[in-house]
Amino acid sequence: MNCEFLNFFINSGAILNGHFELSSGLHSDTYFQLALIFQDHKKTSFLAEKLVEKIMKNITKKIDVIVSPAIGGIIIGYEVGRILNIRSIFTERINNEMILRRGFSIYKNENILFVEDVITTGLSINEVMLSLKTNKTNISLISSLVDRSVNNIDFGIPKISLLNFNVKNYRKEECPMCNSGNIAIKPGSRRYLS
Ligand SMILES: [Zn+2]
Repeated sequence: MNCEFLNFFINSGAILNGHFELSSGLHSDTYFQLALIFQDHKKTSFLAEKLVEKIMKNITKKIDVIVSPAIGGIIIGYEVGRILNIRSIFTERINNEMILRRGFSIYKNENILFVEDVITTGLSINEVMLSLKTNKTNISLISSLVDRSVNNIDFGIPKISLLNFNVKNYRKEECPMCNSGNIAIKPGSRRYLS
């Protein structure tokens, strides 16, 4: 099953090889550019349906609201919400803090489903959990299309993904590509040609 989705991402051109600085600041020779899939509604719907199938097998409580970190999680969060008929909201990073804006709210006793595009370090999810100041028992499940974390991150909450693809990340000081004089690209913030 993992292989099916790996091939899907490869065939969609969403797995880039090179020398990248991730949004976490870590360096890697692999980057998941899922925006290249999200520009295609059929491919996005396909992934959302597959993710929902897996979500439904892993939730034990009724879900009230989907929360996704911007920007990467917005489209897939919305698609999952459309299929499940649940409202979907997103958090934004303002002054290094992940917050709900635009009048979005989470009400008392609501059960939250996290939907993320790619989990790398888990930082975004931890920040969202912190910013919502919500009791963890209200977060039912963390879901993502891709989990590329090196160590299996324990959020204290069940997590599922369509593709587990462990990729080595480096701190800049220890990056072998940097050490050989190669300049890292920031795919999320800079226009470039693959
Ligand atoms: Zn590097």
